[in-house]
Amino acid sequence: MKAATSPVRRKSSSRAVVPAKHAAHPVVPLKERRLNFGNKWDFAPAPEDSKNYVIAPQHELFINGKFVAPTSGKYFESINPATEQTLTTIAAANADDVDSAVKAARKAYDKVWSKMPGRERGKYLYRIARIIQEKSRELAVLETMDGGKTIKESRDVDLPLVAAHFFYYAGWADKLKYAFPGKTPQPLGVAGQIIPWNFPLLMAAWKIAPALACGNTVVLKPAETTSLTAMRLAQIFQEAELPEGVVNIVTGAGETGAALVNHPDINKLAFTGSTEVGKRIAQAVAGTKKKLTLELGGKAANILFEDAPIDQAIEGVINGIYFNQGHVCCAGSRLFVQEGIYSKVIKKLRDRIQTLRVGNPLDKNTDIGAINSRPQLEKIRELVQSGVDEGAELTQTQCTLPAKGYWFAPSFLTGVTHAHRVASEEIFGPVLSVMTFRTPEEAFERANNIPYGLSAGVWTDKGSKIFKMVNKLRAGVVWANTYNKFDPTSPFGGYKESGFGREGGLQGLAAYCRLD
Ligand code: NAP
Ligand code: MG
Repeated sequence: MKAATSPVRRKSSSRAVVPAKHAAHPVVPLKERRLNFGNKWDFAPAPEDSKNYVIAPQHELFINGKFVAPTSGKYFESINPATEQTLTTIAAANADDVDSAVKAARKAYDKVWSKMPGRERGKYLYRIARIIQEKSRELAVLETMDGGKTIKESRDVDLPLVAAHFFYYAGWADKLKYAFPGKTPQPLGVAGQIIPWNFPLLMAAWKIAPALACGNTVVLKPAETTSLTAMRLAQIFQEAELPEGVVNIVTGAGETGAALVNHPDINKLAFTGSTEVGKRIAQAVAGTKKKLTLELGGKAANILFEDAPIDQAIEGVINGIYFNQGHVCCAGSRLFVQEGIYSKVIKKLRDRIQTLRVGNPLDKNTDIGAINSRPQLEKIRELVQSGVDEGAELTQTQCTLPAKGYWFAPSFLTGVTHAHRVASEEIFGPVLSVMTFRTPEEAFERANNIPYGLSAGVWTDKGSKIFKMVNKLRAGVVWANTYNKFDPTSPFGGYKESGFGREGGLQGLAAYCRLD
């Protein structure tokens, strides 16, 4: 694979407008880029080697333990969003293929998996976790090539968490009655699971591991733009000799997901994605016996008090919004700064974003990779432009974006008011909306005053203030003096239009059991 460009360090800050076309931003030669930094040294390119990993030109569906061609004979392309090169073609499953997958899952549930003792199910999960660890470098490279996220994140965040989820739930498989004392946990049956493109393998692990630990079988539908690692996971299931039909993977676009949602023989649906599609799924499932959990959108508030350690907080705010190009449902995309420190914080933010490196996601020094797809890039541009049109002021990292691929420079908007779309709509890109507050009451009231309630952050020196804020914030997760920290033992999920049900921890197990 050809590298996009080397990560680029930035020259001095200034205001900029939303770039209309990448082509207008030619790649700056490395020598010139170094000059931009005066006496500061830039890192030399350090791309992770991708040549050792062979990507098959065509990927089939994974049904009943085998790779099978789709009945329609149709395939779609999966591209690398950093280069726009086609990586492979992926099978498009229709309703007949979904039906075959559900039938395979039902058979495996009735005949094998629900009858297998928990300790045996646990062994399979441990085996899968260990193979994932063995292949983690390859999986990280594929995740980065297919989705555009930086290798730093896929290697150091996604893959360790993927393995950790399988290990964690493997440990519960033979201890379910201790997880829920006084109850006799029973599996639900066949679980239909639909996941988005921002954490493809991690979302698969969040859903598959607890489902299998409890004795359910699975039909998984990955997102159209990021199916590659799910298909690699299918090979790992084969290698682990997971009984056929226990996990089936059907690739395709929204219609494939809808066929899964509407299939009559699904007992449980777990969906992670947009609030818009989540609402449609809730309507489709209403009145049926299917159990449902929804993990939907977010617009988290990061609340920065005057007494916070400012430099540490700025790092947390930067991580909170620019991590994974802001393609994070719980991204800290609204920053509320207490008035007394506003100018200081803006100056530090302005300086800090100029040091972020945007470019080749496979380079180990890159901070900001590619936007996942052209439609997502257009959505980000449109929303940011609306902010500028409504009177907000835009500050961006002054970088030369690569000519090919989908890119958006790290940005923040100041002068944002509650009436602006950028104050309440999910941008799902590397864009922060900055607002101010005076008192803790004003902070939590404004933070809560949107339809979402997935996550929030509080930055303060005072423990009592943390407790006060945590009790008032209507968010499923509240981080204090840190941000974007995940652990398999810890439940994750939303309030209001961010969905219902929890994934992770015991709550994540409970979502896959009957607890009569
Ligand atoms: P999306 O459009 O809702 O898609 C999510 C998944 O649903 C994809 O696999 C998609 O397929 C599929 N899908 C689309 N239409 C469907 C339908 N009518 N019936 C069934 N399935 C359907 O969301 P996205 O744009 O990919 O992902 C970004 C969103 O996910 C953001 O809003 C983000 O906040 C949310 N998210 C939430 C969490 C959380 O835990 N709360 C975590 C990550 C992301 P195709 O993409 O192949 O069309
Ligand atoms: Mg792709």
